[in-house]
Amino acid sequence: MDSTTTTGWFEGFSEAVRAKAEALCGRGGVFDARRAGRALRACCEGGDRPAYPVEVTLSDDGARVVRARCGCAAGATGRCKHAAAVLMTWASRPWAFHDASGVGASLRRRSTESLASLVEEMVALAPWLERVAMPVAHSGERARSAMRRHGTAWGAAGAITWELSVLKARGEALLRAGDLRGATEVFRGLGEGVLEGYAAVAGQDGDGALRALAVDAARGLTTALARAKDRDLRREALTALWSVAQGDLACSDVGAAEEIPEAILRYADEAERAMVAGWIFERAAREGFAANDPLAWSSMPFGALLFELLRDGLDLDEVLRGLKALGRHVELVDAMLLHGRRDEAVAEAWECPTGALPAVAGLLARWGVGADLDAAVRARLERDPSEALFTWWGMRCRARGDLAAARVTAEEMVGMYPSVARWEALREETPEAERAALQARVAAALAARGGRRPEAVRVLLAMGELDAAEECTRGEPTVASAAHPVVSGARLSVAEAAAEKRPSVAMAIWSAHVEALVATGDRARYREAAGFIRRMQGLGVEESKAWVAWARETHPRRRALRVELTA
Ligand SMILES: [Zn+2]
Repeated sequence: MDSTTTTGWFEGFSEAVRAKAEALCGRGGVFDARRAGRALRACCEGGDRPAYPVEVTLSDDGARVVRARCGCAAGATGRCKHAAAVLMTWASRPWAFHDASGVGASLRRRSTESLASLVEEMVALAPWLERVAMPVAHSGERARSAMRRHGTAWGAAGAITWELSVLKARGEALLRAGDLRGATEVFRGLGEGVLEGYAAVAGQDGDGALRALAVDAARGLTTALARAKDRDLRREALTALWSVAQGDLACSDVGAAEEIPEAILRYADEAERAMVAGWIFERAAREGFAANDPLAWSSMPFGALLFELLRDGLDLDEVLRGLKALGRHVELVDAMLLHGRRDEAVAEAWECPTGALPAVAGLLARWGVGADLDAAVRARLERDPSEALFTWWGMRCRARGDLAAARVTAEEMVGMYPSVARWEALREETPEAERAALQARVAAALAARGGRRPEAVRVLLAMGELDAAEECTRGEPTVASAAHPVVSGARLSVAEAAAEKRPSVAMAIWSAHVEALVATGDRARYREAAGFIRRMQGLGVEESKAWVAWARETHPRRRALRVELTA
């Protein structure tokens, strides 16, 4: 393997990380370097902590890093200073890497007996390795051992992640080989072990790599459940998923349980669903929840899952109560309409949150339950003029064929939620004879609302309403702070638009801007100021000459400004 090809190795490493890696190499921090085929392995000094193990795998041509990992706190992504330092060492001193390529082949040639004594020697060096040699049923103990052995100080999560990603790889290999029982054992042990000890090291798991191992364990179990045919094996996988879900809840939700309800609903058969429902009931009873009451489902653990599991066997009232408790408003109204409970559906619709209202109102409209609908939405718009509701109302007016009402709504919307696209669409659908009056009304509405609304300014400029746009930005501070001594972007865009037709407006805005820039005393700001002074000269108005004179005379000592102006 050629060690001189370095292009592409350091992709994804930040400048700061590379600088630290160079310093680490400089003080000889990389040691015990080995290479076997495309894999580079080494130890990196960790200051007052034990050295970190690093492993970098290059592509066949040696040009790219295929995989890298390190046992440090930031090493799960393989983009830490230690991985970079190993690569730098390989580039500059390839001879420092001991060739270990023959180790694998020589192991394969050894007798069973000599392999056994080799393992014994390894266990003598690191007694916990004994677990690795044990059957996969010991995976839980292996994970628990890792969670405790590395302590809880800075870097602990990185070391645990390094060790347990080997266990995860074992589970994945078993899945690939079709050993679903073995994979279930491994992933259960991994998931349970990580979650049991997670609270103690959560603060050190900054990049979430250790947490991600618990999520991966749940996914491995889901794959096993999806593929398993054997009843007992399926039960084991389900039990393990349930156990991981509970473990996740116990260490306050690291996310391992997030996909589990969906996995159960997707892959469990009827009998298995009943079994899971039984587990949820048990847990709820222990915690004092009335699990048979649909109203309790929103507050109890796995209540939403229980609802889905039981749903087919529930009577309509229970389904409706469950949907309401779980806050599933759209489904609730849909179910009511489906079963002819129109009055209840309408009553429910006006109670639901604004976010759900367009969808709910759409349902009511589709079912023809619209007698009071329009008046009710209109009334609601008065007290809750949200964009979503406005949008829905506009669509509703169009669907009814009431284009005049749709235009009134669109006009109100441009005033409240201005956007150039919205304005242009409204203008387009307004008869030509009415456009001038429309523009006058909308411009007045935008100006009247005032406030710092860059979108409103953009709409006014698109209309060509220079004065109104200028007025809208007039109250904006010229000097926000010493650090940001600039006129707002909206106000500058007004000046830009005014340059040709209303040079005096542009003049007023730019001159205030120039004054603010010059007041900072900053050379880069002078350059900016000089640019605007030149723009003012380009306006061809009389005052612009006065401004150049002002810049030269008022600030005779600001040599830099004069230099910029004559540049
Ligand atoms: Zn590292």
